[in-house]
Amino acid sequence: MGECIFCKIVNGEIPAAKVYEDELIVAFLDIGPINYGHVLVIPKEHHQSVSTVPENVAGRMLKVASRIGIVLKRREEYDAYNLHLADGTAAGQVVMHAHMHVVPRGVEDNFRWNWRQLNYADGQAAAMAAEIAGKIAAALEEK
Ligand code: 5GP
Ligand code: ZN
Repeated sequence: MGECIFCKIVNGEIPAAKVYEDELIVAFLDIGPINYGHVLVIPKEHHQSVSTVPENVAGRMLKVASRIGIVLKRREEYDAYNLHLADGTAAGQVVMHAHMHVVPRGVEDNFRWNWRQLNYADGQAAAMAAEIAGKIAAALEEK
């Protein structure tokens, strides 16, 4: 993974403003924050997709990300935080080393997620739920 920028941060080949590190994960400030204090939490091991990150590592990522969120929301300018993870280019993943964003939020931070809400046609939600449900057991077995 010689060209992966986040592996280089893990290995200390390029600098980052680290806020947390243990044997499994590293957390550091995003270089282009949505709000100041925006943190990225990454596994030390290279995985393009979060789906292949071992469960104990993924669990550590979520635990630490949520606690960083707590630390951030206790600052005067923030009241809350978003956790965000893009898996794949169409989802907005730019750096192909799995990472979780911790975005501190304030009521007047003037940032809006571009969120939309479609409506299901009759029966469409039930059919889709059944299809997904039927495939999860096999997907859980994939490495
Ligand atoms: P993605 O769109 O892949 O979910 O997010 C990638 C994030 O990584 C972006 O928010 C971007 O600002 C951040 N980023 C990209 N390169 C670097 C870097 O070299 N150092 C740091 N600290 N953050 C980076
Ligand atoms: Zn990497």
